Amino acid sequence: EKAWFRPLCLCASRGYWVNLLKVQSAGVLSRHRHPQPVHGYVIKGSWRYLEHNWKATEGSYVYEAPGETHTLVVDPGVAEMITLFQVNGAMIYVDPDGNTTGYDDVFTRIAKCRRHYESNGLGGGFVDQFIR
Ligand code: FE
Repeated sequence: EKAWFRPLCLCASRGYWVNLLKVQSAGVLSRHRHPQPVHGYVIKGSWRYLEHNWKATEGSYVYEAPGETHTLVVDPGVAEMITLFQVNGAMIYVDPDGNTTGYDDVFTRIAKCRRHYESNGLGGGFVDQFIR
């Protein structure tokens, strides 16, 4: 499983972020709950949620309602998946029993991106261009 998170807008002033999610091999991304809405657009490939029987295919718009708990899966045979997400508020990571194991919000995203850019040589300040 190889997932890649690229920020497009880290909107600290309004508490949301916009990112591209790219997954280059089949795998399961961590189960999570949303306290606020999420909008998505599938640019390439496809994916699905373990909890639903629909598939998000190339060109699809996806809406995740507040209160949703789900687990994103990229199936074998999908060489590459790219989806644009606009995530409001937070992603709350949960275990199979629904217990909270962690979270991300726009501030943890900014901090993680800053650390990533520090470690890959671009410099922590590289993240600043995405912050609104
Ligand atoms: Fe989600």
